[in-house]
Parts: sequence; C-alpha cells; structure tokens
Amino acid sequence: TAPESTTPPAPSDRILILLKPDAVERRLTGEVLRRIEAKGYEVTALRMLTADPRTLAEHYSEHVSKPFYPSIVQYMTRGPVIAAVVEGERVVEGVRSLMGTTEPTTAAPGTIRGDLGRAWEGPAMENLVHGSDSPASAEREIAIWFPELAAAAS
Ligand code: GDP
Ligand code: MG
Repeated sequence: TAPESTTPPAPSDRILILLKPDAVERRLTGEVLRRIEAKGYEVTALRMLTADPRTLAEHYSEHVSKPFYPSIVQYMTRGPVIAAVVEGERVVEGVRSLMGTTEPTTAAPGTIRGDLGRAWEGPAMENLVHGSDSPASAEREIAIWFPELAAAAS
C-alpha cells in the first residue's frame, strides 16, 4: 500500500436531508439536526424555504404517479422546510439508520421517526425528515435543492 502521506483523502460522502413542515411546526428541527451532528456528521449547507410543487415533483419523481402523491404535495408545501447537505463517511447509510423506517408507528425506538414521528396527525405519512436513499440519489437531490453545489458533470 502507498505511504499514508501520498494517499489522497477519500471524497466526503454527502446526503441531502429535508426537515419537513411537521418538524418546523413542532419545533423539532434543532432536535433532528442535533442527533445528526451528535453522531459526528457535518452540516455543510442549510437553507429554509417553502417547497414549490415543481421542485417536489423532481425530488419525488419516483412517487409522482402513486395514489398518495397528492397528499405528499399537500404535506410538503403547507409550510417551510429546511434543506441541508450533510457530509461524513458512509453518511447515507448512517443518516438513514438514524432516521428509521418510513412509517413512524413501526420505526424502531431510538430513531428520529420512531421516537418523534406522529403519522396519525395528518392525512399524509408525516415523518419529520427526508434523507436520500443512496449516494446517487443524494447527488441527484443536492442538484435540485442546492444547484450551486451540484457535482460537476463527468
Ligand atoms: P422514505 O425514503 O423513507 O422517506 O420513504 P419513501 O421514499 O417510500 O416515501 C417518500 C415519502 O412519501 C415518505 O417519507 C412519506 O412522507 C410519504 N409516503 C410514503 N409512503 C406513503 C403512503 O403509503 N401514504 C402516504 N400518505 N404517504 C406516504
Ligand atoms: Mg425515499
């Protein structure tokens, strides 16, 4: 193996997270970010905005044709969200693990959704937080929410 001094640092893994409107409404954005930061990940970009339906359709392109898609739009546009880029080694796996599974009712205790999610409070499946499900999804989603941080096309 090459001596350590000549080994370039591994490029940092990135994930796109969204603190959804229920997290903002319930004053849990700090708690969610606290858990992510406490694990050792670094927040490298942060922005609060109200999502527009076109941005959401791009972001949730895999869900646009599903029957529950209108409820996602209603949920995600009813108030501001906080979008963030978080970096760290294997951060996609790590943050997905911290988030817990999609449905708060059955998400494991100890996870963000398991501890804090209240799915029954709205018509949508309200679960406080979005996190990209793979490094490829992360890059696709970062380009949507933070175009200025999009990886150079190769
Ligand atoms: P995630 O990656 O864990 O966020 O889950 P998905 O990618 O499968 O779904 C995206 C988001 O759509 C979820 O976080 C929920 O807010 C919502 N959602 C997923 N499945 C359902 C469903 O069956 N009904 C409703 N109303 N919303 C859903
Ligand atoms: Mg997903």
